[in-house]
Amino acid sequence: MHVPERNYGTGMNFKPRKLAMRITMIYLVIGSLWIIFSDRILLNMVADTYMLATLETIKGWFYVLISGFMIYGLVRRDEMIYEDAVEEIFKNYQELEATYEELAATEEELEQQYDTLEKSEETLREIEERYRLAVDGANDCIWDWDIKNGSIYLFSRTKRLLGYEEEELEDRFDVWKSLLHPDDVDRVMGEIDRHLKGLTLYYETEYRLRAKDGTYKWILSRGKAILDENGIPVRMAGSHLDITDRKESEDKIFELTYFDSLTGLPNRIMFDEILKEAIKLAKLRNQKLAILYLDLDEFKNVNDSMGHDVGDELLREVGSTLNNLLTNVGTAAHLGGDEFGIILNQLDNLEDISNKIEQILKAFHKPWIIRGAEFYITVSVGATIYPNDGEDIFTLLKNAVLAVYSAKVNGKDCYQFFSPGMRENINKKMDMALRLRHAVENNQFCLYYQPQINLVNGQLIGLEALIRWIDPDQGIISPKDFIPFAEETGLIVPIGEWVLREACRQNVEWLDKGYRPISISVNISARQFQQRDLVEMIESITKETGIDRRYLVLEITESTALRDLDYAIDVIKELKDMGIRVALDDFGTGYSSLNYLKLLPVNFVKIDQTFMRDIISNNTDREIAKTIICLSHKLKLRVTAEGIETEDQLLFLKNHHCDHGQGYFFSKPLPPAEIEDIISKGIFSMPY
Ligand code: C2E
Ligand code: MG
Ligand code: MG
Repeated sequence: MHVPERNYGTGMNFKPRKLAMRITMIYLVIGSLWIIFSDRILLNMVADTYMLATLETIKGWFYVLISGFMIYGLVRRDEMIYEDAVEEIFKNYQELEATYEELAATEEELEQQYDTLEKSEETLREIEERYRLAVDGANDCIWDWDIKNGSIYLFSRTKRLLGYEEEELEDRFDVWKSLLHPDDVDRVMGEIDRHLKGLTLYYETEYRLRAKDGTYKWILSRGKAILDENGIPVRMAGSHLDITDRKESEDKIFELTYFDSLTGLPNRIMFDEILKEAIKLAKLRNQKLAILYLDLDEFKNVNDSMGHDVGDELLREVGSTLNNLLTNVGTAAHLGGDEFGIILNQLDNLEDISNKIEQILKAFHKPWIIRGAEFYITVSVGATIYPNDGEDIFTLLKNAVLAVYSAKVNGKDCYQFFSPGMRENINKKMDMALRLRHAVENNQFCLYYQPQINLVNGQLIGLEALIRWIDPDQGIISPKDFIPFAEETGLIVPIGEWVLREACRQNVEWLDKGYRPISISVNISARQFQQRDLVEMIESITKETGIDRRYLVLEITESTALRDLDYAIDVIKELKDMGIRVALDDFGTGYSSLNYLKLLPVNFVKIDQTFMRDIISNNTDREIAKTIICLSHKLKLRVTAEGIETEDQLLFLKNHHCDHGQGYFFSKPLPPAEIEDIISKGIFSMPY
């Protein structure tokens, strides 16, 4: 059997059997050597027997003493080793005992932990079960995103919500992300990022997820990041709630509150909000902002004559027209009735703003065809500029309304930028407009007639109808004093219609009375000429009055014709096709290009009366008059000279073959009763 070497704390190896053998052997050798040699030495050294015997005894004692010491030393050493060993063993035993106790305690602890674990597991199982039941019973869908590996645990409920089967969608973050509405991606990713960076306590956002059928579901997503021991987010978990219904009703409420149901444009509340924001931004960027107030002209007529359905449809079309015109430069809103508001936030120099407004006005210069009916409508625009005309919504809008009024007073179908003197101006014009309107309603007008004479033989060939306003307070008001204003206010349209009707009626009446046929000239103002239904209006009045169209001459000024040459050519052609003749009035005062004369299909040219004044004294005027006559004749046009007051003038004109003449020399414009004498005479005596 192997006996292990023992070290009893001495540091050396202790082998008991070998040691005992060695000590015994040494003792035997030394003892034997002692017995052999000590006796011999003693025998040699001592001859005396007694001495020898004594020394033998001392030697014996010595031997016994030495042996005794040696035995004592050996036993003592062993004893000490034994004591050390026992002590060591005792110590080890104590340690062992402590370790055992510890072990026992650990075991007990482990047992306890195991018990607890078992209980926890059971609780966990119960909780999981309850959780599952709760999740299944609740509306929320739970998600759990493992940030490191990108897997996302979507409860099948979310997938079902989107119309997918469980296995149709991979449980991955990027798959979920691919379902996000493109408009929501940046915002949602930003929210997640902010939360993961610890900037928000909870993650909560709303977004749209694409369902299998391509529609989008609104989701309210809430969650929270789970951090590792270093504070780095490792997971994020939370819930999805389907809020599509809520969103739809919210949208509906939002739309009802902020959008006009008729046009789909932002309403007044929204317009104010947008304007508020736009002002804030403009202030921040030190930019300008234009606010336009649009009001349809005579919209009431559309409603009254064509019905509210057509009116509504027109407003809808106007809304979409404005919307299209403002892409990228501004926002249009329907402020109610026939009023629209526009914010131009991309344009900040006056020229660009004016161009845009002109573009808007032009967009109305077309026939609107609604439910088969074709009609025209114009718009008046008032404009204010932030910050020049006001720094807050209230002032800006108030001034824009003032500007639109001013545009209305100035004849509609035009625009006005706000100016501080506008209010006073408007008041004056409004007063005049009111009086003039009153005059129209109460028929305070009458026509005077001025004869037109054939300069060759002095025969009366026609009469020019010239309007007079008979104001109860101010008496007869000259057309020079109110026609320009009637033009501005648009009142020229009803006035012009009345003049035409009255002149035609009068012409027919004179014929009926037995006077010989005579042509009647009616002045058509620029504004009137631009009316898209001018030809129809003339056609209907001529039909209504029964005038022979050969006896109707319409006078348009040169500047009116040149405003839109192509349009003028078309209208004049149409009129001529109807049998009506056209005269170019006040020729020589405007652009007077003889080139245009060639293009315009008119019958007469009327040399403006300003030439008559100096025709005798001023060489240039004389030459111009001669050239006009000559050229007109080449173009086969008849020439009428206006404002002939003297015989010299008449003679000059006659000598230069001017066809017709008109002026105080023959007669001032006269009321119908007085002009009848001239008609019945039918001829003027000429100087020669
Ligand atoms: P007009 O068409 O050039 O008419 C001729 C104007 O010259 C008339 O002024 C007439 O009275 C004036 N006149 C005629 N002979 C003489 C003359 O020998 N010497 C001077 N100094 N003047 C003469 P009236 O009637 O005051 O009309 C002024 C303008 O008002 C007209 O110029 C025409 O442009 C406009 N007007 C007149 N009646 C109407 C109308 O019914 N409708 C429109 N749209 N305009 C009208
Ligand atoms: Mg005239
Ligand atoms: Mg004239």
